[in-house]
Amino acid sequence: MADQPKVTVIGAGLMGHGIAQRFLAAGYPVNLVDPNLQVLEQAEQQISDIFTLLEQPYVKGDLLSLYTEIQPAVEGAKLVIEAGPEILDVKRDIFTQLARFSGPECILASNTSAIPISEIAKGISHPQRIVGAHFWNPPHLVRLVEVVQGDETSLSTIEQTIALLDSVGMKSVHVKRDIPGFIGNRLQHAMKREAIAMLEAGVCDAQTIDDVVKHGFGQRLAVLGPLEQSDLVGLDLTLRILTTIYPSLDTSATPQSTLVERVETGQLGMKTGGGFRQWTPEAADEVRNRVREHLVAKAKQTLTN
Ligand code: NAD
Repeated sequence: MADQPKVTVIGAGLMGHGIAQRFLAAGYPVNLVDPNLQVLEQAEQQISDIFTLLEQPYVKGDLLSLYTEIQPAVEGAKLVIEAGPEILDVKRDIFTQLARFSGPECILASNTSAIPISEIAKGISHPQRIVGAHFWNPPHLVRLVEVVQGDETSLSTIEQTIALLDSVGMKSVHVKRDIPGFIGNRLQHAMKREAIAMLEAGVCDAQTIDDVVKHGFGQRLAVLGPLEQSDLVGLDLTLRILTTIYPSLDTSATPQSTLVERVETGQLGMKTGGGFRQWTPEAADEVRNRVREHLVAKAKQTLTN
């Protein structure tokens, strides 16, 4: 594995350290960059903890190098993944440096959640090498990564990015248009819009909506996508159901007032004790533990298969 190409991860926060761990686990040398030395040191420990959690072998420090500056960290890198703050100006400043200091074959990827890749790449040299690589949190446990094609991203960049991500066990998908929310967040939030609308209309309470998803169609979502499911039940039935339901589905173009009012009155969810539902610290911890244990078990299952 010694001749794996070098990967640089910019930003060692929540996402950056998990992305770095993915590449380290596959034997890639990783340069991790963050202007905050304390964050870098913490990330080194967090990475080590992930190896322990997933029971993967790791020689601490063997492949991982830490940097506070971008220039020396991108020298000789084949792939750079930016996971800095979600602020356009900061990302553009980072990509200006990446375009300047990286080699001519280096792929420059952003893990932005919502900023269009074409906005980040605008006016920066080598836009054909700039691409989106949208990981999901936590990236060391969730395999999906959306590879987003900006207006000027070359197909060769897309293909190489997918090949590199697949080589570390990610499940890469190609998003052919640079649309807000890419694919996953559009689907997730389309469901959220309807959930909030039903709550607002008094169809049921928040827990009922969560129960319907968790104990109903959510049970099969991990193994059956929505279009696969449509084909399974038949498109004739799908057409009949959609013809009946579509006219009454929510089409709000802005977030509903029940959400806006909660935010304005400080009901922000588990961190304030109440949001759509009420939370004691213990109940909130129980949810966090439940999600973590589920994702760790799934990740371990994938690693052993
Ligand atoms: P974070 O705040 O935990 O980490 C960002 C890191 O960037 C910090 O450690 C900060 O010190 C560092 N940083 C600040 N300025 C920098 C600079 N000029 N150069 C390099 N590093 C710099 O944020 P995060 O949650 O890890 O998110 C990082 C990116 O990933 C964002 O674009 C975010 O939208 C995206 N993302 C986040 C999630 C999520 O669930 N948190 C999911 C998918 C994508």
